[in-house]
Amino acid sequence: MQYTDDEIIQIIVEQKKAKLRRQKRRRRQINLIMLLIVLILFALLAGILIKVTADYISERTGSSGTTSSSSSGASETAAVKNGGVIFLDPGHGGSDPGAQTSGRNEKDDTLKIALLTKKALEKKGYTVYMSRTTDKSVDREERGKMANRKKADLFVSIHRNTGDAGSEAAATASGAEVWISSSDPDDSRLLGSEILKELKASGTMSARAVKSGTLPDPNDDYYENEIPTMPSCLVELGFMTDKSDNKAIDNKSKKIAQALATGIDKSYKIIKNDNVSSYQDLLDKYRP
Ligand SMILES: [Zn+2]
Repeated sequence: MQYTDDEIIQIIVEQKKAKLRRQKRRRRQINLIMLLIVLILFALLAGILIKVTADYISERTGSSGTTSSSSSGASETAAVKNGGVIFLDPGHGGSDPGAQTSGRNEKDDTLKIALLTKKALEKKGYTVYMSRTTDKSVDREERGKMANRKKADLFVSIHRNTGDAGSEAAATASGAEVWISSSDPDDSRLLGSEILKELKASGTMSARAVKSGTLPDPNDDYYENEIPTMPSCLVELGFMTDKSDNKAIDNKSKKIAQALATGIDKSYKIIKNDNVSSYQDLLDKYRP
């Protein structure tokens, strides 16, 4: 086979062009790979940055964030147990509805608020036990015994008021009140006062008084204040006969639970530090 000079030049030129194209293609492939590596590195870096920021925020706000997988080491640290044990007692339950007004059972309101309060206390690092977490019957005497067995530091029973239909204008009464033992112990009075103070500050309902004994007899005790061996109180969360108290239970339940948890938390710390006597003003503030 014979090539003319022109044909030979043509072939050489074509070969060179092909070589150039191959080199270009290879360079483009290398560029693409580099770009992919840069993108992967960038994504990794962004992921790390987002995680670090989320951890920082959840640590700062003390919130455990959403229940998603983002609950990181940092937010678990925030919920580390602080050693305090709180016993919450949602009044009534099961076959005992408690007080009833049109379409309203006391047992439902008490359970709803108690469950939210448990959550709020756990966020503060407490271990919380409850006399019931569902709509079931629990003997009234048994509730305090349960708290004693759990060696709880504080006992809080949650109820709602209907007032003394006889002596008080129950139809117009409103606000929260607290009952403590007839012996009027300072630590229980502090617990009740802190709870009322926080409820009032939360703007959910007004605060009445911390009373000792029982409604019919100041020398008698409710089981909830008689049996527990730790500071205890029975909170009446507003009147079921009052529209605005009911509205607060229906629409501001988280705020109410938060106020209860804050009051319990403050009391726990004061009592643990043996500092109750320095809170005499607060103890007197809610005396009836
Ligand atoms: Zn009750």
